[in-house]
Amino acid sequence: AEIYKVDGWGAPYFAVNSSGNIAVRPHGVDTLSHQEIDLLKVVKKASDPTSNGGLGLQLPLIVRFPDVLKNRLESLQSAFDFAVQSQGYGAHYQGVYPVKCNQDRFVVDDIVRFGAPFRFGLEAGSKPELLLAMSCLCKGSPDAFLVCNGFKDTEYISLALVARKLCLNTVIVLEQEEEIDLVIDLSKKLAVRPVIGVRAKLRTKHSGHFGSTSGEKGKFGLTTTQILRVVKKLEQSGMLDCLQLLHFHIGSQIPSTTLLADGVGEAAQIYSELVRLGAGMKVIDIGGGLGIDYDGSKSADSDVSVAYSLQEYASAVVQAVRFVCDRKGVRHPILCSESGRAIVSHHSILIFEAVSATSKEIPQVSSLGLEYFAEGLNEEGRADYWNLYSAAVRGEYDTCLAYADQLKQRCVEQFKEGTLDMEQLAAVDGLCEYVSNAVGVSDQVRTYHVNLSIFTSIPDFWAIGQLFPVIPIHRLEEKPGVRGILSDLTCDSDGKINKFIGGESSLPLHEIEGKGNGNGYYLGMFLGGAYEEALGGFHNLFGGPSVVRVLQSDGPHSFAVTRAVPGLSCGDVLRVMQHEPELMFETLKHRAEEFVHDEVVVDDSNGGGIGALASGLAQCFHNMPYLLPASSC
Ligand code: PLP
Repeated sequence: AEIYKVDGWGAPYFAVNSSGNIAVRPHGVDTLSHQEIDLLKVVKKASDPTSNGGLGLQLPLIVRFPDVLKNRLESLQSAFDFAVQSQGYGAHYQGVYPVKCNQDRFVVDDIVRFGAPFRFGLEAGSKPELLLAMSCLCKGSPDAFLVCNGFKDTEYISLALVARKLCLNTVIVLEQEEEIDLVIDLSKKLAVRPVIGVRAKLRTKHSGHFGSTSGEKGKFGLTTTQILRVVKKLEQSGMLDCLQLLHFHIGSQIPSTTLLADGVGEAAQIYSELVRLGAGMKVIDIGGGLGIDYDGSKSADSDVSVAYSLQEYASAVVQAVRFVCDRKGVRHPILCSESGRAIVSHHSILIFEAVSATSKEIPQVSSLGLEYFAEGLNEEGRADYWNLYSAAVRGEYDTCLAYADQLKQRCVEQFKEGTLDMEQLAAVDGLCEYVSNAVGVSDQVRTYHVNLSIFTSIPDFWAIGQLFPVIPIHRLEEKPGVRGILSDLTCDSDGKINKFIGGESSLPLHEIEGKGNGNGYYLGMFLGGAYEEALGGFHNLFGGPSVVRVLQSDGPHSFAVTRAVPGLSCGDVLRVMQHEPELMFETLKHRAEEFVHDEVVVDDSNGGGIGALASGLAQCFHNMPYLLPASSC
């Protein structure tokens, strides 16, 4: 646990149990103590063949824990409730979940259901997101907010107005000044009294990676001048009472409560000014930004950590709003946040398998063929070779390495010129490996090949260098003897993980012992429940992972898989790119009938004939694009 800093980033949901496996505590550690699920057992249940009592799902696999979602929501709510109560704040907290962080139907449904007792709502940023939020919120609290953010056209605004007609507590938040004309116009046409919010471009700037949309020059929101023009237009239309919410978002992963309080304080000033100007203000929506401590360092100096707890975040918000409103004599507004990362990050774990690793071959001098190799060297090469040998005899190891390096370069040049053959080049590679090994500077970092597409499943690592805790989920009682980087299945050099939390460029790993069907070496990527599934693409046509939903069942250590969804098949991902798998299959089958029958095999009984070929092809369309477990090959 210490090597992988599990206590730092994992508490209170993840720990290492006495078998050396990752234990998941879906309710957090404080509540129902000792309730924990062995993650390896879940992986085995999901991936073992059905004949062994498993579900036969292929890896990679996302394991979802809805109870973790519930705990995150309740923790966020109680942090604000405590801050409100202890500071004598005059209104309540009522958050929304931005569905863009993970639009999975069951994730959104769970959030609406778990959040209903405290009026938790949803935020949408596009038309399809709005549609899904509308339908999910039909089952939620009638007071829950439906916050409509993002760029809007006539259709988006009409849909949001329809949502209000359907008695969903919808707020249309203006992101661009032009949207106000559409809102005024369409609300008259549809005879709906809208509730309007305005997104302010704050001067407060978050300097981390995720803050590039903040500040005066940020991409989103209205400037002070634009907000004043909106107020005027609403006043002229007799709709100033409709303006009820002030929104801002200074970026995800806000590093410190100092920056947070600065932004919230500025927004509270704008809120108070809008009250003074006669708007019907009721809510301040502080956007997202509640961060996750991915490396457990509790530091404000990096994008992968934050220097506060949930409670410190909530208390800072309440204090900043209260301070400004009290000074201006303004009634305390309802506090809303759009925390996405903080709600969904912990609830899912991506599991994948290391299928092979580069081996550390230490060559035997006798096997190198050095005599034959030396014959091929030119004069300079021979001198290097001799100097290398003499330095070794004298015990001057640094000199040895320098000559080995120089010799290798010369040999590569000779090979390119055509004066050295492949065996000779292999011999110099072996010699250099031998020397660096003997001198003790040999590169000990191995490459572990993992059954995964980083582009599909950890896109933020590739795109913005976002780090997540990645660790083996078992054998944690065993000291890892190897350091490695992880290389995925895609044909792309960016498809590798070579940066890890704690600033490490390799990961401590164990030797791979078995493969597939429960004997493999399984790794987990943690805290990736937000954004990764929503952003992942189809590079190399690897579709998304299989998914299981896991609930605690009767005993303290037992669990039930309540939903299992296989990942996309080859046929499914081909369809995404407009191919037609049925037609493709027919074309290939036809080709087989044309060529295979007569020329290659006639006997179908050994699996080589057309029937077997066709069913093998059909199976390929049905399987996932990832590697099959060893026993199925
Ligand atoms: N609200 C808005 C407007 C956003 O742009 C974002 C994401 O950047 C969020 C909420 C969610 O932010 P976070 O995941 O940091 O909570």
